Amino acid sequence: MHKKYLPITLVLAVLLSLLAAIGYRASLRAAPTIGLAAEKQIYLTFDDGPSTKVTGKVLDVLKEENVKATFFIVSDRVAGRENILRRAAEEGHTLGVHSASHVYSQIYASQEAFLRDVETCANVIERVTGIKPSVYRFPGGGDAHRSAYANLLRERGYRVVSWNAVCGDEEIPHASAETLLGESVKTAQGKQPAVLLLHDSAPHRETADALPEIIRYFKEQGYVFCQY
Ligand SMILES: [Zn+2]
Repeated sequence: MHKKYLPITLVLAVLLSLLAAIGYRASLRAAPTIGLAAEKQIYLTFDDGPSTKVTGKVLDVLKEENVKATFFIVSDRVAGRENILRRAAEEGHTLGVHSASHVYSQIYASQEAFLRDVETCANVIERVTGIKPSVYRFPGGGDAHRSAYANLLRERGYRVVSWNAVCGDEEIPHASAETLLGESVKTAQGKQPAVLLLHDSAPHRETADALPEIIRYFKEQGYVFCQY
């Protein structure tokens, strides 16, 4: 190489290595973005609480596993359990409206009765936690009213949330924790995102017992836990 080209060659070499380093770092940064696009997501949603026996255990597990969830509240069950509701909110979980009474014949008696039920529940959540809820889940049996009432809810600023996977705690009588795990795995298969229905009302101790294994399974499968 001719001597007069040497400084230019050196400058070029330095520039090239700098560009290579920047490019390498950019590709490192880009990698997680590509990962996010294909990210598997799961929403843990708990209906019908709060209960003294189950909700506290569920919150303990979620804290232990550092996972956030969404609780659809029955406000007639809040009296005397305000601290449980506040704990859920303080620990970063989402509280949504499910019902005041959870008595289908009352809730769906008329449009006015339906809206009264929603408003009563929302007011209790806001009074106890200071947070105005913005998600809603129909109490079972609302199928006939869903399409008409869903518009009323949207007009009032609610996002209506259903589910596409179940742990089986309502569907399978006396299901063991092992069965609940198996049912969660089976019904969430191929769902993107998976929205898993669980219950934290009083009869569902097995659900709280199954929860650590359910969370561990979906973590191992690379799911990211989401909340509304
Ligand atoms: Zn329910």
